[in-house]
Amino acid sequence: MAFLGRATLQSYIEELLVSTAAAELHSMVPAGELRPSAAQYDTYVRESLLQTGASVMLARVLDIQRDAHGFVLTLRTPGGVHRQVHADSVVLATGSAPRKPPADWQAAGAISYDLVHRELAQVGPHRWAGNSVVVVGAGNSAMQTASLMAPDARDITILAKRYVGMYPAESEDRFAWRAPSQLTYELVVKSSNECGRRPWRVPCVRHIVYDALELGDDAFSWTYQETSNLDVLGLHSMAGRCRHARGRQESDGTWVESRDRDSTVVVWATGSVPVYPPGELVSSLRRDPDGTVARDEHGRTDVPGLFVTGACAGHRAVNETVPARTRPTRVQLRQSGSEAAEERIKV
Ligand SMILES: Cc1cc2nc3c(=O)[nH]c(=O)nc-3n(C[C@H](O)[C@H](O)[C@H](O)COP(=O)(O)OP(=O)(O)OC[C@H]3O[C@@H](n4cnc5c(N)ncnc54)[C@H](O)[C@@H]3O)c2cc1C
Repeated sequence: MAFLGRATLQSYIEELLVSTAAAELHSMVPAGELRPSAAQYDTYVRESLLQTGASVMLARVLDIQRDAHGFVLTLRTPGGVHRQVHADSVVLATGSAPRKPPADWQAAGAISYDLVHRELAQVGPHRWAGNSVVVVGAGNSAMQTASLMAPDARDITILAKRYVGMYPAESEDRFAWRAPSQLTYELVVKSSNECGRRPWRVPCVRHIVYDALELGDDAFSWTYQETSNLDVLGLHSMAGRCRHARGRQESDGTWVESRDRDSTVVVWATGSVPVYPPGELVSSLRRDPDGTVARDEHGRTDVPGLFVTGACAGHRAVNETVPARTRPTRVQLRQSGSEAAEERIKV
């Protein structure tokens, strides 16, 4: 979540608690707010972790191997020092990363949506200021990214594979557009009526269920069918609705729209891929079709003592994440006189 910065999360405070320290998250969020920002939540999680008495070490895991007793991990600290630590068991909680645009689109300047969040946190003109923006994807991330770019962009077109509907009015899938995404929904409808109308400027945002997106020498172009866009956002977005929505209709009814490459920023927001530490052991683990490491309902992988949890185990939200393993607390270990074991589970 780090790159989300001050962006508001979609979950309510109560859905995000990781411990019984409920009051702490409440006290970080201003009165009247149902949801924390990503930065507030990050602080809360960090503090909750430290309060458990866990030993925290900042380092990148470069490799994990088995040894006669358990596992040996090779780490690189922020100062560049390499060291090894030993563990009885290892829980991979290495998260996920936004999916990158395909190589030819990257070469044409397409970016992935996390860069938008990162650039917004910096002072200075944004690369999309005054340009057209095409957002590929239409989940929460895409919808939120569009709202973040809307104040500066010339116009924004969100290209969706299908209409997912708004939760909970039009969809029961709680991962369909939620809280912050609904600002984008508002902008689609509002700009459909007011784009180009003086004296004020309403950010121009459209949502199209498209068939194909093409990378031409001078232009990006996309095609769509009117019949795929009869939902509430599509009806407010089709060609002709405002000066930015100009397309041509082919004889078979297909609409074609395009934007100059020079003045268009294409943003990929098509979900995430799991992230794992490098190394032979982890690379050799069996994978599910979605690319996550195969595991049972307790997060156990095929290697005894090696677990996965959180986004790298395919959990899509904090309240979907389950502890990978219920292990003895420090107090229980001390009572059982197992100080050596305590040292070994610190990692
Ligand atoms: C735009 C957006 C909005 C979201 N909003 C919500 C929301 O409102 N509510 C909700 O419940 N969920 C939300 N989520 C999902 C939520 O962010 C994830 O469910 C959650 O962050 C997963 O936590 P995690 O600890 O598994 O992984 P992460 O939060 O991704 O953390 C993984 C950590 O592992 C570290 N790491 C990776 N590789 C290594 C390595 N080799 N060595 C050492 N460290 C490593 C990474 O640097 C990172 O710090 C949102 C996600 C996105 C992208």
